Amino acid sequence: MNALFQETRLFAFDLDGTLYCGAQVVAGALETVALLQEQFRVVYFTNNSTRSRKAIHAKLQQMGFVCSQSEVYTSAYFTARYLQRTGMERVYVIGSRELTEEIEEQGVECTVESRADALVVGLDVTFNYQKIADGLTVLRRGGRFVACNEDCSYPVEDGRIMPGCGAMVGSLRGASGREPDVVIGKPNTYMLREMVCDQDLAIHQVAVVGDSLESDVRMALNVACPAVWLHAEASKEMFGVVRVADHGELARLFRG
Ligand SMILES: [Mg+2]
Repeated sequence: MNALFQETRLFAFDLDGTLYCGAQVVAGALETVALLQEQFRVVYFTNNSTRSRKAIHAKLQQMGFVCSQSEVYTSAYFTARYLQRTGMERVYVIGSRELTEEIEEQGVECTVESRADALVVGLDVTFNYQKIADGLTVLRRGGRFVACNEDCSYPVEDGRIMPGCGAMVGSLRGASGREPDVVIGKPNTYMLREMVCDQDLAIHQVAVVGDSLESDVRMALNVACPAVWLHAEASKEMFGVVRVADHGELARLFRG
Protein backbone atom coordinates (compact mmCIF):
# COMPACT_ATOMS: atom_id res chain seq x y z
CA MET A 1 0.00 0.00 0.00
CA ASN A 2 1.12 3.56 -0.69
CA ALA A 3 2.88 5.11 2.34
CA LEU A 4 0.54 8.11 2.10
CA PHE A 5 -2.26 5.97 3.57
CA GLN A 6 -0.30 4.59 6.53
CA GLU A 7 -2.49 6.44 9.06
CA THR A 8 -5.73 6.33 7.07
CA ARG A 9 -8.73 4.79 8.83
CA LEU A 10 -11.51 6.18 6.68
CA PHE A 11 -12.00 6.88 2.97
CA ALA A 12 -14.45 9.63 2.01
CA PHE A 13 -15.76 8.97 -1.51
CA ASP A 14 -17.16 11.69 -3.71
CA LEU A 15 -20.32 10.53 -5.55
CA ASP A 16 -21.07 12.37 -8.83
CA GLY A 17 -18.44 11.40 -11.37
CA THR A 18 -16.63 9.14 -8.89
CA LEU A 19 -19.12 6.40 -7.92
CA TYR A 20 -21.91 7.22 -10.34
CA CYS A 21 -22.91 9.50 -13.21
CA GLY A 22 -26.65 10.13 -12.98
CA ALA A 23 -28.24 6.68 -12.76
CA GLN A 24 -25.13 4.83 -13.97
CA VAL A 25 -22.56 3.27 -11.63
CA VAL A 26 -19.00 4.12 -12.69
CA ALA A 27 -17.20 0.99 -13.94
CA GLY A 28 -15.42 -0.83 -11.11
CA ALA A 29 -16.78 1.45 -8.36
CA LEU A 30 -18.72 -1.26 -6.51
CA GLU A 31 -15.67 -3.53 -6.41
CA THR A 32 -13.32 -0.77 -5.22
CA VAL A 33 -15.60 0.32 -2.40
CA ALA A 34 -16.16 -3.28 -1.28
CA LEU A 35 -12.40 -3.92 -1.31
CA LEU A 36 -11.64 -0.79 0.74
CA GLN A 37 -14.42 -1.67 3.20
CA GLU A 38 -12.44 -4.81 4.13
CA GLN A 39 -9.63 -2.60 5.46
CA PHE A 40 -11.12 0.84 6.19
CA ARG A 41 -14.29 2.68 7.08
CA VAL A 42 -15.95 4.25 4.02
CA VAL A 43 -18.24 7.27 3.94
CA TYR A 44 -20.08 8.84 1.00
CA PHE A 45 -19.47 12.52 0.71
CA THR A 46 -21.20 14.78 -1.82
CA ASN A 47 -21.68 18.44 -2.63
CA ASN A 48 -25.18 17.51 -3.84
CA SER A 49 -27.63 20.00 -2.33
CA THR A 50 -30.83 18.72 -3.93
CA ARG A 51 -31.28 15.32 -2.30
CA SER A 52 -31.75 14.34 1.34
CA ARG A 53 -29.39 11.90 3.05
CA LYS A 54 -32.22 9.41 3.05
CA ALA A 55 -32.67 9.65 -0.74
CA ILE A 56 -28.94 9.37 -1.50
CA HIS A 57 -28.70 6.42 0.87
CA ALA A 58 -31.56 4.69 -0.96
CA LYS A 59 -29.92 5.36 -4.33
CA LEU A 60 -26.54 3.98 -3.20
CA GLN A 61 -28.14 0.86 -1.75
CA GLN A 62 -30.18 0.27 -4.87
CA MET A 63 -26.98 0.51 -6.93
CA GLY A 64 -25.37 -2.12 -4.70
CA PHE A 65 -23.16 -0.05 -2.38
CA VAL A 66 -23.17 -1.28 1.20
CA CYS A 67 -23.81 1.63 3.56
CA SER A 68 -25.88 3.01 6.41
CA GLN A 69 -27.55 6.40 6.29
CA SER A 70 -25.12 7.70 8.93
CA GLU A 71 -22.31 7.17 6.40
CA VAL A 72 -23.92 9.48 3.83
CA TYR A 73 -22.98 13.17 3.99
CA THR A 74 -24.41 15.84 1.70
CA SER A 75 -24.07 19.61 1.48
CA ALA A 76 -27.85 19.85 2.04
CA TYR A 77 -27.48 18.09 5.38
CA PHE A 78 -24.47 20.15 6.48
CA THR A 79 -26.12 23.39 5.37
CA ALA A 80 -29.08 22.53 7.61
CA ARG A 81 -26.76 21.72 10.50
CA TYR A 82 -24.82 24.95 9.96
CA LEU A 83 -28.04 27.02 10.12
CA GLN A 84 -29.09 25.32 13.33
CA ARG A 85 -25.66 25.68 14.97
CA THR A 86 -25.30 29.35 14.10
CA GLY A 87 -28.73 30.19 15.52
CA MET A 88 -30.53 31.01 12.24
CA GLU A 89 -34.26 30.85 12.93
CA ARG A 90 -35.95 31.78 9.65
CA VAL A 91 -34.46 31.33 6.19
CA TYR A 92 -35.54 31.86 2.59
CA VAL A 93 -34.49 28.88 0.49
CA ILE A 94 -33.61 28.72 -3.20
CA GLY A 95 -33.31 24.98 -3.73
CA SER A 96 -35.13 21.68 -3.75
CA ARG A 97 -37.94 20.41 -1.55
CA GLU A 98 -35.52 17.93 0.02
CA LEU A 99 -33.14 20.75 0.99
CA THR A 100 -36.06 22.50 2.67
CA GLU A 101 -36.94 19.27 4.50
CA GLU A 102 -33.36 18.81 5.76
CA ILE A 103 -33.42 22.40 7.07
CA GLU A 104 -36.79 21.99 8.78
CA GLU A 105 -35.62 18.74 10.33
CA GLN A 106 -32.96 20.80 12.16
CA GLY A 107 -35.70 23.02 13.60
CA VAL A 108 -35.09 26.00 11.30
CA GLU A 109 -38.16 27.61 9.69
CA CYS A 110 -38.23 28.02 5.90
CA THR A 111 -40.21 31.15 5.16
CA VAL A 112 -40.96 33.98 2.72
CA GLU A 113 -38.28 36.52 1.81
CA SER A 114 -39.73 39.33 3.94
CA ARG A 115 -39.38 37.34 7.18
CA ALA A 116 -36.04 35.61 6.59
CA ASP A 117 -32.75 36.41 8.33
CA ALA A 118 -30.73 34.35 5.87
CA LEU A 119 -30.77 33.33 2.22
CA VAL A 120 -29.85 29.71 1.50
CA VAL A 121 -28.85 28.88 -2.08
CA GLY A 122 -28.77 25.30 -3.31
CA LEU A 123 -29.18 23.81 -6.77
CA ASP A 124 -32.70 24.64 -7.96
CA VAL A 125 -34.00 23.18 -11.23
CA THR A 126 -36.97 25.59 -11.10
CA PHE A 127 -34.73 28.63 -10.60
CA ASN A 128 -36.18 31.83 -12.11
CA TYR A 129 -36.20 35.64 -12.08
CA GLN A 130 -38.66 35.83 -9.17
CA LYS A 131 -36.35 33.76 -6.97
CA ILE A 132 -33.42 36.07 -7.76
CA ALA A 133 -35.63 39.02 -6.80
CA ASP A 134 -36.74 37.37 -3.54
CA GLY A 135 -33.19 36.36 -2.66
CA LEU A 136 -32.02 39.88 -3.37
CA THR A 137 -34.64 41.22 -0.94
CA VAL A 138 -33.18 39.07 1.86
CA LEU A 139 -29.63 40.21 1.08
CA ARG A 140 -30.58 43.90 0.79
CA ARG A 141 -32.12 43.65 4.27
CA GLY A 142 -28.79 42.42 5.62
CA GLY A 143 -29.59 38.69 5.69
CA ARG A 144 -26.79 36.16 5.76
CA PHE A 145 -25.82 34.66 2.36
CA VAL A 146 -25.36 30.90 2.75
CA ALA A 147 -24.34 28.86 -0.30
CA CYS A 148 -24.56 25.05 -0.29
CA ASN A 149 -21.63 24.93 -2.73
CA GLU A 150 -20.26 26.76 -5.75
CA ASP A 151 -19.93 23.86 -8.20
CA CYS A 152 -20.26 25.25 -11.71
CA SER A 153 -21.50 21.97 -13.21
CA TYR A 154 -21.92 18.23 -12.70
CA PRO A 155 -21.83 15.22 -15.02
CA VAL A 156 -24.84 13.04 -15.85
CA GLU A 157 -25.32 10.03 -18.15
CA ASP A 158 -23.86 10.11 -21.67
CA GLY A 159 -21.16 12.59 -20.67
CA ARG A 160 -23.60 15.50 -20.54
CA ILE A 161 -22.73 18.40 -18.21
CA MET A 162 -25.47 20.21 -16.30
CA PRO A 163 -25.29 23.62 -14.56
CA GLY A 164 -24.56 23.33 -10.84
CA CYS A 165 -25.37 25.28 -7.70
CA GLY A 166 -22.69 27.82 -8.64
CA ALA A 167 -24.96 29.07 -11.42
CA MET A 168 -27.60 30.07 -8.83
CA VAL A 169 -25.04 31.50 -6.40
CA GLY A 170 -23.56 33.50 -9.29
CA SER A 171 -26.94 35.04 -10.09
CA LEU A 172 -27.39 36.25 -6.53
CA ARG A 173 -23.81 37.47 -6.39
CA GLY A 174 -24.37 39.37 -9.62
CA ALA A 175 -27.65 40.90 -8.46
CA SER A 176 -26.48 41.91 -4.98
CA GLY A 177 -22.77 42.60 -5.46
CA ARG A 178 -22.21 40.47 -2.35
CA GLU A 179 -20.08 37.37 -1.90
CA PRO A 180 -21.58 34.43 0.06
CA ASP A 181 -20.86 34.75 3.78
CA VAL A 182 -20.26 31.03 3.89
CA VAL A 183 -19.95 28.21 1.35
CA ILE A 184 -20.68 24.87 3.01
CA GLY A 185 -19.52 22.41 0.32
CA LYS A 186 -16.15 21.33 -1.06
CA PRO A 187 -13.46 22.65 -1.53
CA ASN A 188 -14.25 24.35 1.79
CA THR A 189 -13.35 22.07 4.65
CA TYR A 190 -16.43 22.61 6.83
CA MET A 191 -18.15 19.34 5.82
CA LEU A 192 -14.94 17.32 6.17
CA ARG A 193 -14.15 18.67 9.64
CA GLU A 194 -17.72 18.07 10.84
CA MET A 195 -17.73 14.54 9.40
CA VAL A 196 -14.43 13.72 11.13
CA CYS A 197 -15.97 14.76 14.48
CA ASP A 198 -19.06 12.64 13.79
CA GLN A 199 -16.87 9.63 13.05
CA ASP A 200 -14.67 10.21 16.11
CA LEU A 201 -11.46 10.45 14.11
CA ALA A 202 -8.67 12.97 13.56
CA ILE A 203 -8.30 14.71 10.22
CA HIS A 204 -5.04 12.91 9.34
CA GLN A 205 -6.89 9.58 9.57
CA VAL A 206 -9.07 10.48 6.58
CA ALA A 207 -8.34 10.17 2.86
CA VAL A 208 -10.50 11.64 0.10
CA VAL A 209 -11.31 10.00 -3.25
CA GLY A 210 -12.80 12.15 -6.00
CA ASP A 211 -12.81 13.10 -9.66
CA SER A 212 -12.57 16.86 -9.16
CA LEU A 213 -9.23 18.56 -8.73
CA GLU A 214 -10.90 21.84 -7.79
CA SER A 215 -13.29 20.45 -5.20
CA ASP A 216 -12.27 17.00 -3.83
CA VAL A 217 -8.50 17.24 -4.14
CA ARG A 218 -8.39 20.92 -3.17
CA MET A 219 -10.42 20.23 -0.01
CA ALA A 220 -8.08 17.40 1.01
CA LEU A 221 -5.00 19.54 0.41
CA ASN A 222 -6.59 22.37 2.43
CA VAL A 223 -6.47 20.16 5.54
CA ALA A 224 -3.35 18.21 4.50
CA CYS A 225 -5.02 14.82 4.28
CA PRO A 226 -4.16 12.44 1.43
CA ALA A 227 -6.27 12.41 -1.72
CA VAL A 228 -6.85 10.05 -4.61
CA TRP A 229 -7.63 11.91 -7.81
CA LEU A 230 -9.64 9.62 -10.04
CA HIS A 231 -9.54 11.04 -13.51
CA ALA A 232 -8.75 9.67 -16.95
CA GLU A 233 -6.52 12.65 -17.64
CA ALA A 234 -5.06 13.01 -14.15
CA SER A 235 -1.54 14.03 -15.01
CA LYS A 236 -0.46 16.85 -12.73
CA GLU A 237 2.20 15.85 -10.19
CA MET A 238 1.13 17.00 -6.69
CA PHE A 239 2.43 16.25 -3.22
CA GLY A 240 -0.06 14.25 -1.13
CA VAL A 241 -2.11 13.20 -4.15
CA VAL A 242 -2.26 9.77 -5.78
CA ARG A 243 -3.47 9.90 -9.36
CA VAL A 244 -5.41 6.99 -10.85
CA ALA A 245 -7.10 6.75 -14.23
CA ASP A 246 -9.93 4.42 -13.14
CA HIS A 247 -11.25 2.21 -10.34
CA GLY A 248 -9.16 -0.75 -11.53
CA GLU A 249 -6.00 1.21 -10.89
CA LEU A 250 -7.31 2.40 -7.52
CA ALA A 251 -8.16 -1.17 -6.43
CA ARG A 252 -4.67 -2.38 -7.37
CA LEU A 253 -3.21 0.03 -4.80
CA PHE A 254 -4.98 -1.84 -1.99
CA ARG A 255 -5.07 -5.44 -3.16
CA GLY A 256 -2.84 -7.59 -0.89
MG1 LIG B 1 -17.46 14.56 -8.43
